[in-house]
Amino acid sequence: MVTLSTDVLVIGGGATGAGVAWDAALRGLDVILVDRADLAEGTSGRFHGLLHSGGRYAVKDPRAAVECIAENRVLRRVAADCIEDTGGLFVTTPWDDPEYADRFAQGCADTGVDCDEITVAEALRQEPRLTRDISRAFRVPDASIDVWKTVWALAHGAQQRGARVLPYHAVTSVHRDGDAVTGARARDARTGEDVEIQAQVTVNAAGAWAGQVADLAGIEGVRVLPGRGIMIAMNHRLVNTVINRCQLPTDGDIIVPIRTVSVIGTTDQHTDDPDDHTIDQNEVDQMLDDGEKLVPGFRGARALRVWTGVRPLFEDAKQSDTDTRDVTRAHALLDHAQRDDVRGFVTITGGKLTTFRLMAEETVNAVCRQLGETRPCVTSTTPLPGSESGEHYRLGERLARKEANLVDEQVICECELVPRSKLEEAMTRTSSTNLDDIRRQLRLGMGPCQGGFCIYRATGILHGLDGLTAAQADASLLEFLQERWKGVWPVLYGDQLRQARLDDWIFQGVLDVAHLPS
Ligand SMILES: Cc1cc2nc3c(=O)[nH]c(=O)nc-3n(C[C@H](O)[C@H](O)[C@H](O)COP(=O)(O)OP(=O)(O)OC[C@H]3O[C@@H](n4cnc5c(N)ncnc54)[C@H](O)[C@@H]3O)c2cc1C
Repeated sequence: MVTLSTDVLVIGGGATGAGVAWDAALRGLDVILVDRADLAEGTSGRFHGLLHSGGRYAVKDPRAAVECIAENRVLRRVAADCIEDTGGLFVTTPWDDPEYADRFAQGCADTGVDCDEITVAEALRQEPRLTRDISRAFRVPDASIDVWKTVWALAHGAQQRGARVLPYHAVTSVHRDGDAVTGARARDARTGEDVEIQAQVTVNAAGAWAGQVADLAGIEGVRVLPGRGIMIAMNHRLVNTVINRCQLPTDGDIIVPIRTVSVIGTTDQHTDDPDDHTIDQNEVDQMLDDGEKLVPGFRGARALRVWTGVRPLFEDAKQSDTDTRDVTRAHALLDHAQRDDVRGFVTITGGKLTTFRLMAEETVNAVCRQLGETRPCVTSTTPLPGSESGEHYRLGERLARKEANLVDEQVICECELVPRSKLEEAMTRTSSTNLDDIRRQLRLGMGPCQGGFCIYRATGILHGLDGLTAAQADASLLEFLQERWKGVWPVLYGDQLRQARLDDWIFQGVLDVAHLPS
């Protein structure tokens, strides 16, 4: 069995764990980051895409609002390339309590969230598809953030400073030596081999699974209440600004423009299992109706797919309430040396994607305390790889690059404008045979055709590059199609049904994908 040793082992490669790895590596610590799947395949890769201004929490959860606006400002500097500066609006619709708008403005003032009231006419000029029935509108610095770009930039930055990043390594046991945690054993899902990792400090950044990992360490009472939410991607940017309903947080009240699509969300249902990705058709129907309240005609637009994510909401063991919307969106850092007299183990959970950097900073401070060292955090001033210029990502960037080299390169994915060179580079760099991993890195197959035209081309390229057998390439293609299908069936109506039928003709009719020659 392979044995590795390190200063810090981080369990969980979502935004929080990757943030911890980046922070610790910048402080000169040796780091190993493991995830049971690909990076950002947990909640981080299933979120709504919103870099919060804090406005959403200004009335109900002021602590979360203060953290969000502070981190929003920091991330705009250090993760500029991962952010599109869409701006945000909070609008009062006929379905919202008109009294709330003043409480909202006051909450923003109290928590330091930048907020300007604008006229309804100005809001409608900015967002012509918005319902004409709004009575008030406030401008806030919401934005959209590309999580895959962010998490991979964190991981690459950490790797450049010596960190080892091990996706598809599930921790199966956490080692205890008396009152100290000394590392963990992880199983490589690709080879089936076990890896022994000895660590001075182990960080449990397993998000909604943090309770399970704490259990492995023999630590009781770390309860993470999973709150499941659905989101629906529409095939256009129905809005170019993040649109929020001006009311206390509820279901289906935000639309986020992300790249070429817009995403409405979300819901919040208590579940016992963080791997529960049930999609309830009633929730989908309700969400489409909610979209109609913000953008008339929403239901007539094409819905591309539905997915779910599970919020890691840390529950105070003293409370037994299971309404997950009432649990704070602020994070919980558990230094188990102080909490349980167990050295070498720290848990970080809860919070939001927007606050991952702050969570990582506090975590690595706790790690340094356990190591008896003082090493200052520099993540608020160090740009991530790719964000050095400080310029935000702009929609149209890929098109501009393509237009500059019109005849030079094949485009493999027309919706997301992924050129062949980028695809080959990602396939070689990640040495992944999983098309879904490549999708997350490049947004391959995430646009309006959902892979209908690009994925068989990508399979052929993967086959040629990696020397996969035909059977392996076929399996990879089938796995991708199966995975995408899960999110498509709940919205099979109108134009999406036509698209699905066309895809079906391509894959079943032309390619006979279920019986490809091996
Ligand atoms: C529906 C929904 C919408 C949201 N929208 C927003 C939003 O718009 N803006 C925002 O700021 N926040 C949003 N959030 C919150 C945000 O997504 C999460 O707070 C954040 O992504 C959590 O990141 P994480 O790294 O802590 O957890 P995760 O991303 O879940 O990472 C934990 C990782 O641990 C891994 N893991 C688990 N068990 C093991 C094991 N045994 N061994 C190895 N690895 C393991 C998992 O595979 C996973 O990758 C949303 C959440 C939900 C559910």
